[in-house]
Amino acid sequence: MRVAGWEVREPGRPMVLAEREERAGAGEVIVEVAGCGVCHTDLGYFYEGVPTRHPFPLVLGHEISGRVVEAGDGAASWLGRSVVVPAVIPCGTCPACLDGRGSVCPKQIFPGNDVHGGFATHVRVPARGLCPVPEGADLVALAVIADAVSTPYQAIARSGLGAGDVAVFVGAGGVGGFGVQVAAALGAHVIALDVDDAKLAALREHGAAATWNVAATELKELRKRVRRFAEERGVPTWRTKIFETSGTPAGQATAFGLLAHGGWLGVVGFTPKSVEVRLSNLMAFDAVAQGTWGCAPELYPEIVRLVVEGKIALEPFVERRPLASVNTTFEDLHARRVARRVILVPEA
Ligand SMILES: [Zn+2]
Ligand SMILES: [Zn+2]
Repeated sequence: MRVAGWEVREPGRPMVLAEREERAGAGEVIVEVAGCGVCHTDLGYFYEGVPTRHPFPLVLGHEISGRVVEAGDGAASWLGRSVVVPAVIPCGTCPACLDGRGSVCPKQIFPGNDVHGGFATHVRVPARGLCPVPEGADLVALAVIADAVSTPYQAIARSGLGAGDVAVFVGAGGVGGFGVQVAAALGAHVIALDVDDAKLAALREHGAAATWNVAATELKELRKRVRRFAEERGVPTWRTKIFETSGTPAGQATAFGLLAHGGWLGVVGFTPKSVEVRLSNLMAFDAVAQGTWGCAPELYPEIVRLVVEGKIALEPFVERRPLASVNTTFEDLHARRVARRVILVPEA
C-alpha cells in the first residue's frame, strides 16, 4: 500500500514528506498510525549527530500506537486490532533472546532507527511483540506507552522497587514523569527532581510525595534532603532507588552522587556527552548502577492495565499536534518551549 512519512534526509534539515510502497512480509503487519510521540532520542538523532542504525533518509518516531490494517503470513490474527508498538522489538529466536536478554538482541527492530518509524501515516513492523489494547481506549494517548511509560517501567522492574521503598527521579520530563507515576502506583515514596517548576508542579498531583527544583542546590545538600526524606519514612539506603531520567550530564552526575550504601542507580536517560564520576563509590557503597534499554514486550500488558485502571494518567502529560507540524514541533522541543510529551497525529 502507499504510505507517507516525514523523512530525515540530512540531520538538522527540515524533514520532507515522501511516499513509498510498503507490503507486510511474513510475520509482519502494517499499522495505521493513530499517534506517535516525540522523544528526546529523536532530537538526538536529528540535532546531536547520534547515528541511527539505518542511514538517512529515514522516518524517525518510535512511540507508536495504531490499528493493524495489513498482515503478512502468520500474522492474520492481528488484522483490525488496536495496538501499541514497542519501541524495541527483539527477534525472539537469537541466542540473546533465548537467553532472556531481548534488550540486547542484535536483530531487534527499533522503528525510526532500524526501519522507517512512526512520523508517518503507517509503519511496517514485526507482529511479534505488538501489545493489544482495549477497543474504546484513547488510542492516540496510548502511544506514549511505547516508550515514555515503558522505558522507566522496565528500569523500575529491574530495580526491584517495592511498596514502601523510596524512588528518586532525576529529571521529570516525559520519561521521568511517567516513571514517577509508575513508582507511585507500585506503592513507593517518590521524589521528583528537575530544574523546571512547571514539570514538577504537574507531578505533585500525580504520585510525587516531594518535588524539588534542584537548579541551585549543591549535591551535598541534596544528599542530605534525600536521606532525611527516607529516614522520616523509615526507609534504609538499600531500599532507595535512583533513576536518572534527565539524559543530561548534570543529571547523571547528580544521580550518581545520590547513591548511598547498598543503593541502586538506573541509567534511563541518554546523552552523548561524558560525565566524570568516582566509580569507586560503587565499590565503597556496595552499590549497583545499571543501564536499561527499552522495555521487554512481555511487560507491556501490565503497563496497559495500570493505564486503563487509571493508576497512570496520560492526558495531563501529553499534547496532541498534527503530524504536519513535525518540523516546528522538533524546533519547539529543541528550544524547550513545550512542557508535555508531544504526540503527532496524522491528519484524517
Ligand atoms: Zn524514546
Ligand atoms: Zn533476538
